Order: sequence, then structure tokens, then C-alpha cells
Amino acid sequence: MLSKQEESRYQRQLILPDFGESAQLKLKNSTVFVAGAGGLGGPVCFYLAAAGIGKLIICDRDTVDLSNLNRQILHGTAEIDVPKADSANKTLSNLNTEIVIETHNTSINDDNIEQLASMADIIVDCLDNIATRNVLNRFSIKNKIPVMHAGIDGWNAQLTLLNPPLTACMSCLFDEAIDTDEPKPVLGAVAGAVGTLQALETIKYLTAKSSVENTLLFFDALGLEYHKLPIEKNENCSACSHL
Ligand SMILES: [Zn+2]
Repeated sequence: MLSKQEESRYQRQLILPDFGESAQLKLKNSTVFVAGAGGLGGPVCFYLAAAGIGKLIICDRDTVDLSNLNRQILHGTAEIDVPKADSANKTLSNLNTEIVIETHNTSINDDNIEQLASMADIIVDCLDNIATRNVLNRFSIKNKIPVMHAGIDGWNAQLTLLNPPLTACMSCLFDEAIDTDEPKPVLGAVAGAVGTLQALETIKYLTAKSSVENTLLFFDALGLEYHKLPIEKNENCSACSHL
């Protein structure tokens, strides 16, 4: 049941065709683990919190830096040097008082991921490095919890739902990729556009069906073009081919 307060708060989405109270209750009963409270994590957390996801678990190991603020809209100038997890908690608690927000100021690794994410219905990958994405991937394969992946590379970005064995896994896509220490170029509005779609597809996955399962959405921000490409599992994938 939705409370009177919730009926008012979510009124404009409750009247959406193909949504209604049943979809709202699915969101209320959902737990989402958001890995990273940066450029993608901002729009993802804002829109998931605003939509009424029952429990958001957010993990980030960093503190806010001045150079984050061109894109990381969860945080403001007053939060410089504050853990991003704490800043995210403050911002989102102010936005929606009806939901549970749990934040962790820690790095994600193979030792703590079970404790952080085992209650999640879906993981949202808002990370910026391959090593931690591989931690999410191993956990996702083992526990059959899907990952809504997004990534940004300058003016280009991508989005897909990784739900092995029903779809490719992270390693099927990035087996060759390696991390570098160079700062990556990114405009806040590009992270905002893709992070917003990542939140949208997470809401659709939880209430009905995502449109990016077995499909990679490729976004060219400079040319303002979206392309949807079919993606397949890598039969020789080191992480998921045994499934
Ligand atoms: Zn794979």
C-alpha cells in the first residue's frame, strides 16, 4: 500500500499509462546498489531517489574535489573534502524522506561486495575504472544480480543491461580494456544525459522490462545521435563462458 504522502509525492508518475500503483509498489519494494557517486552516480541517484526506490545503497571511496564539480551534481562547493558518500546521503535525504538511503565510504572489492550488494535487485555501474567493474561482474555472475552498465569516453557514451547468463557480461565487452591514471575528459551534461537514461532503464527493469538487454545504446553527444546495437556473449569469455 502507498501512504497518502506517497500518493501525493508520486502523483504525476502514478497517472502514467502502463505504470500506476503496481509499478510504484515494485519500486517501493526494490533495493538498488549504486556503485559510485560521481558523474553518472549523480543523475542515477537523483532520479532513483525521486522515483521512490525503497532502498538505495550507495558506495563511493572518494572525497569531493573542486575538479569534480563540473559534473558531479550530488555535491556542492561546501562539500569539498567531504566523503562523497556523506554528501550524497545529505542531498538525497533532503530530496526524498520516504525512502531508505544507506551510504558507504569505502572502496568496493571482492571481500566486501557480498555485504554491500547481496540484498540488491540490481546494481547500477557508475564507476570509472575497469578493476572495480570486474568486481561487480564476478559478483553479478555468481549471484545472478544484473548490472546496469554505463560508461563515458569523451563525447561518446554507452549503456547496456548485463544480466548473465541471459546476456553478455562485463568481461564479454571489455576483456581487453585496462585502466589508466590519466584524467578522462568529460562534460557534465554528457554524464547527465547518460546517467539519466541509466536511471530510466533501471526503473523500467524493476517495473517491466529494460530496452537495453542484449542491446548496447551508443550515444554520440557531439553529433547528437543515438544508436542501438545488438550485443552477444563472447563464447570464449574468461568470466562467463562456463555458465
Ligand atoms: Zn562474459
